[in-house]
Amino acid sequence: MWTGLKKCIPTTRAGRRELSAISEMESEEVLVAKMKSPVIYAARAELRPLVIHGPQPGGQLTITTEVENYPGFAEGIQGPELMQQFEEQAKRFGTEFLVTFVNKVDLSRRPFTLWTDEGHEVKAETLIVASGASAKWLGVPGEAPAPEGLGGMGVSACATCDGFFFKGKPIVVVGGGDTAMEEATFLTRYASRVTVVHRRDSLRASKIMQDKAFKNPKIDFVWNAELREILGSPETGVTGVRLYDIKAGEESEFACEGVFIAIGHKPNTDVFKGWLDMDEVGYIKTAGVSMATNIPGVFACGDAQDSVYRQAVTAAGTGCMAAIDAERFLDSLPIETSTGESVTIEGEVVSADQQSVTMPDGEVVSNIPDDQPPPADGAGQPGGVYARPSTEL
Ligand code: NDP
Repeated sequence: MWTGLKKCIPTTRAGRRELSAISEMESEEVLVAKMKSPVIYAARAELRPLVIHGPQPGGQLTITTEVENYPGFAEGIQGPELMQQFEEQAKRFGTEFLVTFVNKVDLSRRPFTLWTDEGHEVKAETLIVASGASAKWLGVPGEAPAPEGLGGMGVSACATCDGFFFKGKPIVVVGGGDTAMEEATFLTRYASRVTVVHRRDSLRASKIMQDKAFKNPKIDFVWNAELREILGSPETGVTGVRLYDIKAGEESEFACEGVFIAIGHKPNTDVFKGWLDMDEVGYIKTAGVSMATNIPGVFACGDAQDSVYRQAVTAAGTGCMAAIDAERFLDSLPIETSTGESVTIEGEVVSADQQSVTMPDGEVVSNIPDDQPPPADGAGQPGGVYARPSTEL
């Protein structure tokens, strides 16, 4: 999901003005979001957000069923309904929505520029990336979401979301990393038996997670095996899997009633590669307790940034943090007037050529540092000598 914000500058703040002249596709902030908490916070801060999202608004929560661990819903709530509630809440405070994909960005200078598949060009003074992550899938027959496959009918990529529905049933987990060990261990709470199918004869998972899984009497391992097909029908749900023994070169059928694909997640951050610092998987790096990235004015939150917790509630929390960071960032920026002057939050007016500053009490002071000659053409650069450092939050 992609969200753009037009900032409605409170007129009560000295020197600030409504940005009513900006075109529909220009904004002071852009959020790129699966979760809607940044939008809700931004909207309530009178930033009039424009959400730009793909055809799956709400991301992974829209492909899950019952969400039982999101605070405030004592009886649980369906994932799509929770996302719908978020959207309605965001709309209540003036959020606009645009369905499209962002396919290119230029973060070299503010305003940042984003281009979409539909040909929009979005200008933004700040950007929040909350594009989420997608579970990796094997791409085998039977895996696709129903009705094409058995996805949602016994096939899942989220044990925390769906494990509860497999009480007393035998389950297969595919993968050999920490996610697979964590999912397998978690699923033993419900399943009668959990069989981990791994394509090699050793695990990639950390030793502590391996030991935990090996010690669990409800977990078995099938080594050197590829899952080639998920068996079953819409009527029966999952009834088994077709496995390929890599060493023996033979196929066999293995009975089970649930399949959890746990071969990792991929953050949806490709479009920001080369701009934002990321780890080797693609999770965006943020600084300290803030959601700030390596580019001042760009923030990241949720599963695009979090490789550890990856829960709806943690994504909502970091989304809130990013929105607050972005609002403070905007507040630290001078606002340009139609005559080219910049007005700071304190009401100081920086001349169009950035050579002088008129203080709120009317005093005019020089804006040229003692040791620096004025620019030859007399024109100041945006964010020039007077403008506050953009990292100030
Ligand atoms: P990993 O990339 O670590 O592991 C993915 C696993 O899936 C590997 O065993 C890999 O096999 C297997 N795999 C990948 N593609 C396929 C495929 N097409 N067919 C069959 N098997 C496949 O991803 P994780 O999500 O497990 O972990 C990602 C990161 O998150 C890690 O740094 C991990 O430590 C961390 N994490 C930490 C947790 C915690 O501390 N509680 C919990 C979950 C994750 P192979 O080994 O052969 O490559």
